Amino acid sequence: MTKKILKFGGTSVGSIERILHVANLIKKEHEAGNQIIAVVSAMAGKTNELLKLSKDVSNDFNKRELDVLLSSGEQVTCSLLAGALIKLNLKARSWLNWQIPILTEGDHSNARIINVNVSKVNDFLKEGVAVIPGFQGVSADGNITTIGRGGSDATAVAFAKLFNADKCEIYTDVDGVYSTDPNKIPVAKKIEKISYDEMLELATLGAKVMQSSAVQTAMMYDIPLEVKSTFTDRTGTKIFSQQSIDYTKSVTGVAYSKDDAKITIIGVEDKPGVAANIFEPLNKAQINVDMVIQNISSDQKTTDITFTIKRDDFSKTKKILENNNSIIYKDITYNDRVSKVSIVGAGMVSTPGVTYRMFRGLADERINILAISTSEIKLSVIIEEENTLNAVKKLHTIFDLD
Ligand code: ADP
Ligand code: ASP
Ligand code: MG
Repeated sequence: MTKKILKFGGTSVGSIERILHVANLIKKEHEAGNQIIAVVSAMAGKTNELLKLSKDVSNDFNKRELDVLLSSGEQVTCSLLAGALIKLNLKARSWLNWQIPILTEGDHSNARIINVNVSKVNDFLKEGVAVIPGFQGVSADGNITTIGRGGSDATAVAFAKLFNADKCEIYTDVDGVYSTDPNKIPVAKKIEKISYDEMLELATLGAKVMQSSAVQTAMMYDIPLEVKSTFTDRTGTKIFSQQSIDYTKSVTGVAYSKDDAKITIIGVEDKPGVAANIFEPLNKAQINVDMVIQNISSDQKTTDITFTIKRDDFSKTKKILENNNSIIYKDITYNDRVSKVSIVGAGMVSTPGVTYRMFRGLADERINILAISTSEIKLSVIIEEENTLNAVKKLHTIFDLD
């Protein structure tokens, strides 16, 4: 008997009609002899709606209570789907995070699943379908926690590992992972199979079709994933370890994110300890710095340091820098309307000229590059936000992905 984890994202359960559709899909899988754990997201838009309610109460809403609030979205879907399955004459029930329990550790809004009590659910699976809420758990001291936006993917992968499932399928509103977001660039092509490393880069760099921490866990425990559509029967995209993939293209996909901000500190002293003095208070405030560029100083005395952060951290970072008395500088410039566009491909390592082609392509579109960062399988640039889609389109074309 095959044990399957089937994860249904927000759009897939976005209305009663869609929940009924998902129930029928699960029924077919169950009747084919599979044991099913369905992991569900909140109905599309619900989590944002709840988040907004909390902000209407306070911009600094209590973190514990925020997790109680946000986790409720998934609980609603769980109950509706379990009810729909029962209506189809299946044995089914919802298992809320504390009923299993799904044990987490770490801070509110950013916890991780560390264990699950599998025995009761496993017993139930012999006859029925278990419906569980994604995105949440309960801490050792009994508090409800959430595990980061898009976290139902991470729940599905953690369950695949902890329940020793044979398959983990991520059902969403597109029929697989594409060379770039197919909803924004219609000429994007579906990728039949992709390595964990490439998927992790794409997800981290903005392809929200998979949540990055879910891909990271899948890679760590070698759990093959399949991303497919809830609405068509087409084969999806398989995500698995690298050996079995044939690299014919230098670039596999183009990703982008519009949630970045860039800061340049002009004329800081060029001596040991300055960078540490800039970044230490940011680190203390748990602000993640992404790219860092330091120019070579022309006068050997001062230099400019540019770095990027998430736009959400922009005001906090600004305040910290302005109050940092341990650095001397001439000026600071801020730009919170930048985006990051990246090309990703395991084939890049063995193909010369990828960097040049990327820069040439952007130059031909008259797009100015504000910062650059590279790794073995990715190349990212920071550009003005208004140029994002033009840049993505151009790169998609020049790397033969259309
Ligand atoms: P779910 O609610 O099912 O988790 P998400 O909205 O989180 O779905 O992710 C699916 C969306 O990801 C798609 O609708 C698509 O717009 C977007 N997306 C971004 N990059 C890609 C990509 N490279 N391939 C496929 N979809 C992508
Ligand atoms: N509902 C949560 C979110 O919108 C988790 C998820 O959908 O995966 O982030
Ligand atoms: Mg998602």
